[in-house]
Amino acid sequence: MKKCPICSSSLSVKVFNGGKKTLSTLGWPSTHSEAISMEKYPLDYVQCLRCSHIWNCQFNYEVIPYENNPNRMFNNGTLWQKHIKAMIQSLNKLLPKNPTVIDIGCGEGHFVRGLAEANCGTGRFLGFDPNSAPESGAGIEFIPNYFLPEVDIKRYQPDLVIMRHVLEHLEEPAEFLEQLAFASLKLNKSVYFFAETPSVDVAFKSGRIVDFFYEHPSQFTKKSFVRLMELGGDVQWVDTHYGGEVVNGLIKLSMENSYVHQAQESEKFLNFTEISKLTLASDLNKLSLGEQVTAIWGGTGKAATFIQHYQLEKNKFPYVVDSDYEKVGSFVPGTGQVIRHSSELKSRPAEVIIIPSQWRAADIYAEIKMLNVTYSKIFIEYQGRLIDYELDEHPYHA
Ligand SMILES: [Zn+2]
Repeated sequence: MKKCPICSSSLSVKVFNGGKKTLSTLGWPSTHSEAISMEKYPLDYVQCLRCSHIWNCQFNYEVIPYENNPNRMFNNGTLWQKHIKAMIQSLNKLLPKNPTVIDIGCGEGHFVRGLAEANCGTGRFLGFDPNSAPESGAGIEFIPNYFLPEVDIKRYQPDLVIMRHVLEHLEEPAEFLEQLAFASLKLNKSVYFFAETPSVDVAFKSGRIVDFFYEHPSQFTKKSFVRLMELGGDVQWVDTHYGGEVVNGLIKLSMENSYVHQAQESEKFLNFTEISKLTLASDLNKLSLGEQVTAIWGGTGKAATFIQHYQLEKNKFPYVVDSDYEKVGSFVPGTGQVIRHSSELKSRPAEVIIIPSQWRAADIYAEIKMLNVTYSKIFIEYQGRLIDYELDEHPYHA
């Protein structure tokens, strides 16, 4: 991970060298010899200069057996219980009647179960966790899997998504939040996201090192947490709790209108090019079936892209020319027509000349005129159709 996993800045500096250590919460050695022979991994933390996020730049998610071992948090401390209850009450106020709530990385499910109890049996309460715990199932629907924003937001249509003490385990938390916000756009309702993670601010100020273990590649400061939450939508609030040791916050998942607009434009282009590929290939195929000699002007770069995309195979369109002597004698990548010099059009005229590189069409047109060759039509592609360069309207005239 070279770039900051929160703000993508490439400016980071070393902040803590923890040497190599074993997994600390997901190793679960069952014997002494197993414990002392456990694999060790580098704890090489760097800090982002822009958003102050700290992360292990040598982290590898693959080595942690989340599917095999539970990630247990001690939840029974009095002060901690008080904190949890306060959060459940606060989130419950947000929920509509008969809500759907998803807790990602729910562990044994105590938090989402607390919300279910507060709703007295109405609504749907789901917990995702790759490791299924024995207590799961009581009062909640337990899904022993990773949560996939694109699939699961659509499938379950939640009102609230919860992620407590999970973000610090992720390799790409920003990516996750962006995907979550994007997926929620497809639901016609407000979707809230609540996240909580340890805050490294107290540890950082006091020189404390115990927070830096392999399962926590990401160490959030309040600043970097806010930065992350902003990626997912409208921040409702961000607070620290438990003596500043945890930071949490609530957002209404959303995206800027310009993103939504861009997504629509992208989709339009995608659909348009799917159709124009068929239309153009069909127009060009008809052309190849006629009696006229057709030449394609250009056989590399954009022209080679055109030839491959619209399937101008060598047997149908054997005649390819270029005015650049460096290209003459080489072959069109992918389809294999030999590239001839454009002056051949004098001795072997083409009735139809296709110019695949529209942006150079005016120059090529001038070259054709200068060569003084005969032709009946020059075609370019414009808005998904083959059009007459000289007669039709387009933006590529000189
Ligand atoms: Zn950053």
